[in-house]
Amino acid sequence: MPGLGRTFEPLARQAREEHWSHEEYLHEVLSVEETSRADSAVRMRLREARFPETKTLDTFDFAAAEGVSAPQITELARGDWIGRSENVFFAGPIGTGKTHLAIALGVQAARQRRRVLFHRAADLVRTLLEARDQRELGRLHRRLHSVDLLIVDEIGFVPFDRPGGELLFNLFTDRYQRRSLILTTNLAFSEWVKVFAGDEKLTTALLDRLAHHATVITTKGKSYRMRRKEEAPDKTPDKNPSTLPKPGRRA
Ligand code: ADP
Ligand code: MG
Repeated sequence: MPGLGRTFEPLARQAREEHWSHEEYLHEVLSVEETSRADSAVRMRLREARFPETKTLDTFDFAAAEGVSAPQITELARGDWIGRSENVFFAGPIGTGKTHLAIALGVQAARQRRRVLFHRAADLVRTLLEARDQRELGRLHRRLHSVDLLIVDEIGFVPFDRPGGELLFNLFTDRYQRRSLILTTNLAFSEWVKVFAGDEKLTTALLDRLAHHATVITTKGKSYRMRRKEEAPDKTPDKNPSTLPKPGRRA
């Protein structure tokens, strides 16, 4: 009981000085313990999720995001859809905040003590292929199934060969109506067949299922970073050639 261990003495001193009843003191030390356990559970969930970096909703600039509605994301952040094993798709061009939002929703889910796991699509497919080769696919599936929210980022960046596509298909099918997914993609759904080795039947079957209980958010517009640079060029002097020191003017 780490929280209790840390605080029972100072709280006892305070209790004596302020004449708390035994019950009040007990309530106080146990609440500290409860909070400390909740905090460490959340820290563990966040670690287990393996986010490549931490992105949260309070650093997301909704005014600068086309196609993204703040109320909708706020609603999704409550995580009720995860309880219903539904899915969220982020589709749109590069740099429009898809990964940021996917991680931010994952962080929220972890704060609600849900099990979350983040994977880039290419890495996930590689992991699946390796597990298959080592005859450990069953175990990997069980492990992934224990995760309430699986985030698969960057579908479409790298096309999969047929075995890879099929393994991903099986994984997604496995989760269908039982566990939640967040997928991000730079592709239009009509282009997904390219990712799945040109297998039209497989792709149609998959999209059919995935889209059935899904919220699709289509991000639009220019890359956020590019736009920031255009709007405030002198805020990024290191990358802006016009503000670089002139050649020959060495310090
Ligand atoms: P995508 O996954 O769509 O390619 P990212 O989510 O990786 O884009 O965004 C690229 C960078 O720009 C990230 O550092 C992200 O935090 C930032 N970014 C994108 N959109 C926004 C936004 N609306 N508000 C704040 N930061 C943003
Ligand atoms: Mg991304």
